[in-house]
Amino acid sequence: MNYQQILDEIYKEAKVFKGQGELASYIPELARVDPLKYGIHLATIEGAEFAVGDSQEPFSIQSISKVLSLALVLPLIGEMLWERVGVEPSGNPFNSIVQLEYENGIPRNPFLNAGALVMADILISRFDDPKREFLQFVRRLAGNETIQYDEEVAASEKATGYVNASLINMMKSYGNINNEIDSVLDFYYHQCSIAMSCQDLARAFLVFADEGCIYGEDTRILKKAQVKRINALMQTCGFYDEAGEFSFRVGLPGKSGVGGGIVAVHPKCYSVAVWSPKLNKKGNSVLGMKTLELLTTKSGTSIF
Ligand code: GLN
Repeated sequence: MNYQQILDEIYKEAKVFKGQGELASYIPELARVDPLKYGIHLATIEGAEFAVGDSQEPFSIQSISKVLSLALVLPLIGEMLWERVGVEPSGNPFNSIVQLEYENGIPRNPFLNAGALVMADILISRFDDPKREFLQFVRRLAGNETIQYDEEVAASEKATGYVNASLINMMKSYGNINNEIDSVLDFYYHQCSIAMSCQDLARAFLVFADEGCIYGEDTRILKKAQVKRINALMQTCGFYDEAGEFSFRVGLPGKSGVGGGIVAVHPKCYSVAVWSPKLNKKGNSVLGMKTLELLTTKSGTSIF
């Protein structure tokens, strides 16, 4: 497959969508990103890589980090995780609190903010220095030792994170958070603040395309059954209340973040990351969705 030619074509055709949508504005660091940034990086499990545009520029990965924390948590505690987090799509926005009350503080899935907070709580219980452990894990997956937390983004998230504070308090009242609320929120805001490029993300997500094997290593860190679970959750829950739309248009497991990034995986074939900061009303990159729709259409690589 000539992926480079396809990416070049998409880059030209999809540019018309660059103006559509709005930048995330809830923190200043995201509101001042250049809205015209646009990059794509595709990595195959055979080791071929294809890129176009601003594919090497780091941006805030935000909720994409939830897939990486799931990949760290699942081998640690295994199927016990599902006693504390569900596996159903929510049909609600990423920071919705309504469902927590009538489901006894159990978030519907790990990719809602509430679900990610439960996973953060588990990592804090397991590691002496969870932030260092998580960063090392992400660096290893991406094969890039320079990946960092963005402390300014983390501080701004904390200063404005009233809804996340309410989610965690609600869960704590139901006994689904074991550690101090502030330490769990601090970890969560740091994981969201990580800056990675499309190249970093496509390489890191190869672990989900390649049945648990890490980019650039011969090591398998996830069992096939765990990869199946993570990809299934990306397929059904990766885009909050727009998961159906993403499946319908793109047809791959994927995950978005309000920094404008989207990563998608074609199991046993490739992973691809796209970045364009302007978002639709559901918090997903407008041009990113269009790009991946064109990719699976032109290459015939939807999983359906
Ligand atoms: N840091 C953001 C939040 O907690 C992440 C949201 C997202 O990317 N959907 O609200």
